Amino acid sequence: AKRVVIKVGTSSLVYPDGAINLRAIDQLAFVISAMRHRGREVVLVSSGAIGVGLNYLGLKKRPKAIPEQQAIAAVGQTELVSIYKERFAVYEQKIGQVLLTRDIFVYPESHQNVLNTFEALLAQNVIPIVNENDTVAVDELDHETKFGDNDQLSAIVATNIGADLLIMLSDIDGFYTGNPNADANAELLTRVERVTDATYEQAGGSGSRFGTGGMVTKLKAAERMLAAHGQMILANGEDPAIIFKILAGEPVGTLFG
Ligand code: ADP
Repeated sequence: AKRVVIKVGTSSLVYPDGAINLRAIDQLAFVISAMRHRGREVVLVSSGAIGVGLNYLGLKKRPKAIPEQQAIAAVGQTELVSIYKERFAVYEQKIGQVLLTRDIFVYPESHQNVLNTFEALLAQNVIPIVNENDTVAVDELDHETKFGDNDQLSAIVATNIGADLLIMLSDIDGFYTGNPNADANAELLTRVERVTDATYEQAGGSGSRFGTGGMVTKLKAAERMLAAHGQMILANGEDPAIIFKILAGEPVGTLFG
């Protein structure tokens, strides 16, 4: 895999008490810069704008109203990217911000514009840092309809730019036979070759959106990678150095493919 997309969830970037996990961000910057140095092309899809925005504005609770969340995301995105910029600079690595909506690839003209931007950034050794544009789309915010849409966005980006590996970092060691937070007997699956209805049931069922975390959207991302003959690895982002193990072919997390 020369071209790799890495997606990090909010849970890997912001502590439960709302503080920003600077150590994780620094580790990510270190690992990705090292990958770039070794000739890989890396795109980072990062959530966390709301979490960072809440912290930046000194707010304790995420507001319910979507427009307020969009405002917090706008503030938080600026801060998040400036933290990334600072941390990547330590490793002499430049970054560029790319804000997308999932439908961007539906329209031929915008599709081409987006691809052109990625190619030009990667050709210049810049790491694109992607997030959903929360001003334009609320898929990532509207937890009552869909959530975790950066999961799907990361797979959409990966398949469109010809990345055959998507590394999905979350707060869990991989994909289990059931939600480990609800089922003490759930076992870690090291490999999932096909995503079927039964797989969705293991994620809490496609019908139940609550209490499932963002596992359903992660499975949708995996499905998309598999359909494009790519692979996805779901692993714990607590220590981003796990990416080195993944690239070395060590069996960590769950391999979809
Ligand atoms: P992120 O913020 O990293 O995107 P999410 O909280 O959205 O992470 O999704 C991860 C969560 O999905 C896990 O912490 C777990 O509670 C839940 N989950 C549901 N079903 C499963 C399963 N079968 N295997 C692993 N995790 C599951």
